[in-house]
Amino acid sequence: MQAGKCPRCSSTKLAKLAETTLQLTKSRAVKVVVYECADCKLIFYEGL
Ligand SMILES: [Zn+2]
Repeated sequence: MQAGKCPRCSSTKLAKLAETTLQLTKSRAVKVVVYECADCKLIFYEGL
């Protein structure tokens, strides 16, 4: 996994918005960090 990079423009200027838990199924959840790219404004998750 590439950490700290925007998946669209590969910028490393990211703003960390939140840490949250994504509920995938009833019995499965993953912890993710929500980032916003400062360059292209893409909001994306990154698994912890
Ligand atoms: Zn970007």
